[in-house]
Amino acid sequence: MERYYVTTPIYYVNDEPHLGHLYTTVAADVLARHARMSGKEVFFLTGVDEHGQKVEQAAAARGIAPIELADAVVERYRSLWPRFSISNDDFIRTTEGRHKRAVTEMWKRLDAAGAIYKGFYEDWYCVPCETYWTGTQLKEAGAWEGKTCPDCGRAVEQVREESYFFRLSDYQDRLLDHIRAHPEFIGPESRRNEVLRFVEGGLRDLSISRTTFSWGIPVPGDPEHVIYVWIDALTNYLTAAGFPGEMPHWPANLHLIGKDILRFHAVYWPCMLMAAGLPLPERVFAHGWWTVEGEKMSKSRGNALKPDELLEQYEADVLRYFLLREVPFGQDGDFSFAALKARYNTELANDVGNLLNRSLSMLHKYRDGVLAAPADEEEGDRALVADVEGMQRDVEAALARQAFHEALERINAVVRHGNRYVEENAPWTLAREGRDARLDTVLYHLVETLRLVALQLAPFMPVKCAAMLAQIMNAEVDVAALSLREHGGWGLLAAGHACARPAPVFPRME
Ligand SMILES: [Zn+2]
Repeated sequence: MERYYVTTPIYYVNDEPHLGHLYTTVAADVLARHARMSGKEVFFLTGVDEHGQKVEQAAAARGIAPIELADAVVERYRSLWPRFSISNDDFIRTTEGRHKRAVTEMWKRLDAAGAIYKGFYEDWYCVPCETYWTGTQLKEAGAWEGKTCPDCGRAVEQVREESYFFRLSDYQDRLLDHIRAHPEFIGPESRRNEVLRFVEGGLRDLSISRTTFSWGIPVPGDPEHVIYVWIDALTNYLTAAGFPGEMPHWPANLHLIGKDILRFHAVYWPCMLMAAGLPLPERVFAHGWWTVEGEKMSKSRGNALKPDELLEQYEADVLRYFLLREVPFGQDGDFSFAALKARYNTELANDVGNLLNRSLSMLHKYRDGVLAAPADEEEGDRALVADVEGMQRDVEAALARQAFHEALERINAVVRHGNRYVEENAPWTLAREGRDARLDTVLYHLVETLRLVALQLAPFMPVKCAAMLAQIMNAEVDVAALSLREHGGWGLLAAGHACARPAPVFPRME
């Protein structure tokens, strides 16, 4: 069976869950659900990153152990995801024994390959960002005079500490060859170009251990040092796949990330894997950032959207739909409540909801809810069937490129076609004129279109689509068990099938 391994990043426990975390996780969930429906053996991983100086400091400030802080925040992520129908197959914590074993083994392999050496780290460090800057980088950013962090503008401090280094510079040419030979390795295209320019500019060896804090995994044979975030965090994708044992799911098909961690995933990570003699992931895709009502989200502004608070106002499926429909995946976008409402009312309430309601209402009004076999198709019927079949192919192709908005727009086009088909065929006139065979054919085409639309929408809105399908099939439908091969063909609804009475699935938002 074809495998599909998709990951979100592990989220840092020093951060509370916010809209950005939700965005990546929902996107990965849609791909995982769609791959399962396509018959693939799916492994969908998410989790949390628990180590590092910021966690150590935050715990100390509260007078608790770092693991207590981590436990509390981990629980917030763990309990949040089911409320958004997130169907992850594993949830990794970097404090788990399996992860310590994997990271220790990764270190040993890099060391055995001659890719690690000990030296001194002399640089500028931003504590809040946990980022080291070279003097050159500060000068380039115009931050040399004030000695401030180019990212956050706060003061950086000079540090000189003993550190282990990874010979990143040795892998520059191999990485460039790989990126050039595999155009699909980094998406979207603009990010690929950004990485190419960065690597062409020259890679500098990477400091991979710290002695300034202890909340982490110790360096094998030198426990004064803890392994720094690059190796610790990135190796989680191997840990969950079974490393250092059998790894049936590796290499990952897709690492979904935010654009802020592109360099770690598209530069450091593949070089580490090359050094350890392991295959590289097939693709890394970096999505954009959200503003909220036109403003940058930040802790200091206090406008960061919290997923659990959004659920007090909106259903999870509606948020899932909006996030993936509103903005082309890969670009930045703005989250506004007016836009959410407009999109919901236009595309879901007016288009999908209306098509479902009017179709099932007419089926009950004219045929007691029972479908009859369609008679000979006319040109308009064939066009609708062709559009539905085209949608199935196009959605598949769009999701293979992580073009969620295109997939949804394609599904919406079929829904609009369905509503036009109602107007063009005017079933009320067919009923009045007693054109029974024609009326049966039109009603059949409408219900079958709705069934296949619901099937395509199911990875995006699993709860809403279960409700749609429950009316169409007149039975409980387990959306997680849907199969495109088994259920995706046109004409599978049998003559004599009775649909349930319609009930609003997408009531208008006022
Ligand atoms: Zn900073």
